[in-house]
Formats: sequence, C-alpha cells, structure tokens
Amino acid sequence: MQEVFLKDYKKPDFLIPEVELTFEIDEKLTHVYSKLKVIPQSQNENLELKGEGLDLVSIQLNGGDCEFTKTKDGLSVSVPTTEFILEIQNTIKPAENFSCEGVYKSGNILCTQNEPEGFRRITYFLDRPDIMSSFKTTLKGSKTQYPYLLSNGNLVDKREEGENHIWVWEDPFPKPCYLFALVAGDLAVIKDTFTTQSGREVLLELYVDHGNEDKTTQAMESLKNSMKWDEQRFRLEYDLDRYMIVAVDSFNMGAMENKGLNIFNSHYVLAKPETATDTDFKNIEAVIGHEYFHNWTGNRVTCRDWFQLTLKEGLTVFRDQEFSSDLGSRTVKRIQDVDTLKNHQFPEDASSLSHPIKPKSYVEMNNFYTATVYEKGAEVIRMIHTLIGEEHFQQGMDLYFQRHDGQAVTTEDFVQAMSDASGQDLEHFKAWYDQSGTPEINITTQFDAAKNEFTLHFEQVVTTHNAQYDCLYMPFHLSLLDEKGKELLSFEQQKFILNQKHQKLVLKDVSSQPVPVFNCHFSAPVIVNYDYSTPEKLHIVKYAEDYYSVYNMMQILYLDQIKSLMKQFTVNGEVNILPDLITAFQSVMENKNIDNELKALILSLPSERIIFENIELYDAPVVDKALEFLAKNIGSHFGTYMDKWIQQTEFSSEYSLNQADIGKRALKNTYFTFLAANKESQNLQKIYDSFKNATNMTEELSAFKVLVKTENEYCKTVKDEFYSKWKSDNLVFQKWVQAQAQADYCDIDLLKHIESLPEFDTKVPNHIRALYAGFITNLSRMCDGDKETYAFLANKILEIDKFNSQIAAGLAKKLNIVKKMPSLGKDYLIQEMQNMTREKSLSNDLREILDKNLKSIV
Ligand SMILES: [Zn+2]
Repeated sequence: MQEVFLKDYKKPDFLIPEVELTFEIDEKLTHVYSKLKVIPQSQNENLELKGEGLDLVSIQLNGGDCEFTKTKDGLSVSVPTTEFILEIQNTIKPAENFSCEGVYKSGNILCTQNEPEGFRRITYFLDRPDIMSSFKTTLKGSKTQYPYLLSNGNLVDKREEGENHIWVWEDPFPKPCYLFALVAGDLAVIKDTFTTQSGREVLLELYVDHGNEDKTTQAMESLKNSMKWDEQRFRLEYDLDRYMIVAVDSFNMGAMENKGLNIFNSHYVLAKPETATDTDFKNIEAVIGHEYFHNWTGNRVTCRDWFQLTLKEGLTVFRDQEFSSDLGSRTVKRIQDVDTLKNHQFPEDASSLSHPIKPKSYVEMNNFYTATVYEKGAEVIRMIHTLIGEEHFQQGMDLYFQRHDGQAVTTEDFVQAMSDASGQDLEHFKAWYDQSGTPEINITTQFDAAKNEFTLHFEQVVTTHNAQYDCLYMPFHLSLLDEKGKELLSFEQQKFILNQKHQKLVLKDVSSQPVPVFNCHFSAPVIVNYDYSTPEKLHIVKYAEDYYSVYNMMQILYLDQIKSLMKQFTVNGEVNILPDLITAFQSVMENKNIDNELKALILSLPSERIIFENIELYDAPVVDKALEFLAKNIGSHFGTYMDKWIQQTEFSSEYSLNQADIGKRALKNTYFTFLAANKESQNLQKIYDSFKNATNMTEELSAFKVLVKTENEYCKTVKDEFYSKWKSDNLVFQKWVQAQAQADYCDIDLLKHIESLPEFDTKVPNHIRALYAGFITNLSRMCDGDKETYAFLANKILEIDKFNSQIAAGLAKKLNIVKKMPSLGKDYLIQEMQNMTREKSLSNDLREILDKNLKSIV
C-alpha cells in the first residue's frame, strides 16, 4: 500500500484544457475514444496517465505513432515539451464492473461514478482534480436499449444512424474529470422548468425507472426550492440550460454532483407518502439541495487535491443545513445535525480512524469520505459564520468566487477570502483544519456574593498539531439563568470567544448564584466538562431558552440514569429511577412552548451509540436491561398522559409535510417507544392498530419498528404482513431488512434467511448496508461475544471486498466498536480481523481500515 502525503503536492507538469470523448455504448464491451489537447508546463518528457482495468486498443500522438510503456497503474507516454494532441482508444466492460466506480451497470442502465478516482476506470487520464478541462462528449448506442444517452452540459446535437442514435453534449465550464458523467438507458423522464433571477429558463429533468414517476414530486419541488434559495441567500444562479437528476438503485454513496447531470441513490429521489417517511422526505430535500449547491461550491470552484475535500464538502454541508433550516424548523435541524455529529463524528474522532478535517496523508482516498471531513467540516464553516456574521460571510463568498471561479484551490484560499472580506484575523482559527480528536473544554466557576461577580475559568484540552498555537480559536456562547430561571445574560449579548489554553471571564452585576449554560446552539464542536449538580441540570431543562441546551441536558440526565442503573444492576441492589429525571421529563412533556417535533427529539432516549461513547465497557445485557427498565418506568409514570394525548390528537389522514403534522407523528412515535416497553397486550394492540390503519409510511414504519424491535406477541405478524405488502418495493423492502437487522433477537440464522430471499440482491450497496451495516451497528447483538457471528461477518466483508472494496471498507470501519467490547467477544473479533488481513487479495480500502482498527487495540 502506498501512502500519499499532502506535503508532497506538486503542480501538474501538463494541463489538458480540452477533452473530446466518444463512447460506443454496449454493456458487454464499450469502446472509448479520447482526444486530449495537452499543454506541457515543464520540461518533463514523460506523461504518466492513470488507468485501471482498461484494455488499450491504440494510442497516437499528433496523429502519428508514439512511444509508451504500460505501468502498474496506467501508461507512461513519451511526449514533446510543446502543445500536442493525444488520441487514445480503449475498451471497458460495464456489465462486469460491480465496484460502482467508473462506468457500471445499475439495474438495466449504465451510469458512472468518478469521484474521487473513478475516471481512470473509463480511460487513461491525468486523474487529479487540479486538471480542469472543457468536455465534449459523443454517445452512440442502440435506440431501443438506450433511448436516453446523457452527459454533462448542454445537448448540442442528436442524430440517428441505423439502429443507433448519437447524442452530443458540450459542457462549456472547465471541470475536473471526477465531475464527468454519462447515463445510458431506458428511463422515464419528468420535466419541469425554472426561471433564474436573470430571466433564463432552465430545463429540469428527473430520470427514474418506469413505474416510479409518481414518486418524484418531492425531488422536483426540492430542486426548484434549492435553485431559488441559492439565489436569494447566496446570490448564486444556475449556469447551464439544463439540469438533470438520474436515480439509480446501485450507488455507493448518497448522490453525486456531476456537472449538470447529478446521479442519485434512488433512496434520495423517490418518495410518496405511502412509501417514504417524513425523514425520507426531509433527506431528499437536503440531498437534492446539497448536490445542487455543489454547482458553485465544488464544481465552479473545486479542490486542488483530495486533501482539500472539506473545502467543498464542509462548505456544502453547511449550505444544505442552512437551506433545511430556512425551510423548516431551525432548532430541530440544529439538534438533528448535532446529534448526527455526536453519533458518527465524535466516535470516529475518538477512534484509531481519527483525522483532521484536512487529512495529511491517505492510502485510499475513498476511505476519507468521512463524518469528520463532512460534518465536522461543516461545523468549522459554521464557526466562521458565527464569528464574522451573515453579512460578512456573504461578502466572503462573493470574494471567494471573484478570486477563484474556474480554479482548483485550497482551504487556505477559502479562509483567506473570509478573513479579507470581514477584516477579521482568522490565522489562529485555521488550526481547526489540522487538528484531530474532539477538543474538550474544562470549566470551573466561582460566585462572589459580596462583589456580585461570577467568574468562569476555561481550560482547553486539545492537541493542535500547530507549532504556533497550543489551543484553538472558537466562538463559545454561554448564558446565565437566575434562580427563577430568568436569563440574566444571553449568548447573543455575550459573543464570547475562546482563544487561550487557560482563560478567565468575569461577569459583573450578578446578584445571586446563577446556573451557567454552555456552548448554546452548540457554537463549537467540543465536549464541555462542567460539574453540574442534578438540580442545576433540571433547572436548565426547565428554563433554558436555547432548546439545544434543553435537549443536551436531557440526554445527560438520561445517561446519568443509565449509568446509575447499570451500577445498581451489577451490585444487585435496589433499583431506582432518579426523581429529578421524572420531573425533567414531565416539565418538557407539559411545556406548551415546545412544539411536538422538538418535544419528540428532547424526550427520546439516547441511542446505543451515544451510550457506548459514554461508558467504559459495553456490557450489552446490562445496557439493555437498564434501557428497558428506564423506558418501562417512564412508560408507567406517564402512560396515561401519553395514551390520552394520542387518543385526543387528530392525525389527519391526508398526508402533509407541514410542521404541525410532522410533529404529531414524531411525538406519537416517541410515546410508543415508552408505551411498548412493558410489553402489555393492551399497549401493543394499540401500536399494532396504528400500524394496520396507517395511511402513510411514517406511521406505518414507526409502529412496525417498535413492534419488531423485541420479541413480543405481534412481532412475527407485523414482520410477515409488512413483507408481503412491500416486498416488491425495493426501498421499502430495505426498511424491512434494516429493522430486523437491528432487532434485539437478530442472529446469523435471520441474516442468512434474509440473504436468501429473492428480493435481496447481495451486490446492491443499499441492501448490503441495510442488512450487514444494520447488524454491525446493533450493539447489543455485536457485543455479546458470539464467535460464529464474527466469523460470518468477516467472511461476508471479504466476499464483498472482491467486487466492491469501498462498501467492504465501510463495513469494516464500523468494527472499531471492538475497543469497548467485553473481553471474550473482543478477542474473537480481533482474531477475525487479523485473519482478514492475511488475505492476499485484500483491497487497499479494506486493508487500510483493518490495519488502523487493529493498531489501536493490539
Ligand atoms: Zn457533497
């Protein structure tokens, strides 16, 4: 395995301003003709082109013969030091390609995925993002098999040639080859238009499998909303005449922002109320937005090299978060985003896979599409926004495009534009780009009643990897509550910045001992350590005006309770629930100022993953017992209230994605999880009725999940009913698979049974994720030490690695839970991972992850 380092970056010796590609499309054997205009930038007479799995047919330089040698990763061509034309002909075999990179087959269509390094599987090229070219693409294929032949840019010609037809595309905007795309197939198309702020009409097209036309309303609406929002908030207008989105079933990631031709995992396009949940609808809005926003942040200005990935991803995630916040509930969105960060990024940053948002080296770039680069990257952009404010941020964006449109740049270029536009010095702030691990802030306070002073001491516990700074620079918002719960000082007034290792803040005119609330709105992605008393925690839950802080404190109270129950269970003493927790729960439940959607979030129990991160050792049976005891207790305390609320609430049968309806459905679901905990027939019956009578997938699936999670009298019935109703709907079938993979009773037999079903396709990434990733994240099953299960999973990952190394590595990443597993299971799993590394044909992707996992524990 060869490691690539950021410090070794060198400007390219050649530029390729113009690329002409011609494809003779056939799934068995596709011919690729590539004509490159190359401009040397140095005296280098060897042009090293990348190529993987290609069959070379011919190569010509300036129309004549040329000298070349095949290298282990492509071709080395002898070239002149003045401008020349290189023509290459090669073949590829899309139908035999299951990697979901390059040109491959998904269902009956051919499509591409080229980020980060898939283009080298199409033809020999300088496959690096700082080579920006204008592309002209000619696609030739059978009129019947491939009625649509799509590529980037504008369609400039369309003609027939016997059984075949030819579509010619021109993209006037220079782009790196990772943004190249083609799609060929028989699809249904839904059309619409959007008129930009300058009055240009853009054709919008959504391509889906025949029969799915009725599931595209949300995607099309979201696209139009994205285009409008980017004009209003960021003053950014779409640049081509046409914008196309194609939904495919086999896709390694969520979606891909290829210029003018986005390719999406069908999960993020297809939705109608009967088959998709509220969350699915919201995710479609967010992902459609995300890929659209890339048109400027990613495509017009792209990354100089892959170490800069967060330049486009952190910024674009921030933009899609803002888009969803402006269209829906900002508070709910903020809590959900922080929750995602804490469930995925914090664990990554606490593991052997921890890396800065701008990594310094990699073996396999595919492994760096991480929560750190994306989600922590977005938090870093959010901090810049908080520090300089919306107006300066927008001026910074303007300046960034003014300076860098059409270029491949670095994160420093972005921060510099923000700094220049706002006049704020962000030198110290830049340390966030090199730092890894979640920073911790230790805080102590003193109240001086004689002086009416409240003093706070902050200590940053962080490794900066920066010789100049021993700590980070961050906005750290805080507020103070008096004994009546009134806000004495709000974070809006107190725009406090942490920028020293040890820092002191003295607040005057504080007449009585206050309760401080730290990191309001999660202003910085850090862990706060402060020794709150339980009454203080309760005080925050009751009175804090920042609902993120209410949510956060409720999670802390839950975790306190779970830890205390686990202790009580192991010593076999009397088991009790903290009265303060019950009071806190009640105060939120009865608080009329908190809307239902927010309430559902605040009252939900912490996820298994959050519990995992907050305890030393994941003793699965004890965690399960504690969680069950807690849910049961809350259920019996407030069962009557919850029941009454569900009875009295009107759930409209007409589905709508408005705030009020989403809130009602969400809260009902949260209450169901508590009501189901005691497994009383009467409660289960009500949940089953809700499942049977549901007219939308949100209600149907939430009741289904509650009933299928544990073994109970309805478990088998709902499993069978849901299956026979939905097995032919691929996306809903995946929900059915995942719910079982995450059930308390899931075992190898069940996994094998699901694998054997005719609907299950062992090569489709979404199916693999639903079943195996679903199971690996089922901590109560993964941590119970069953040797056979680990052997089964190890074999599965190796099997997958043979055709899709990216997905195999993704599964292996999740095995980093091994560090907190009880000893027996831990030993078995380590053994399996070691056995896997002995496999000779292991991919780079998988080997890098396994090595890192093992390095941290052995
Ligand atoms: Zn993206």
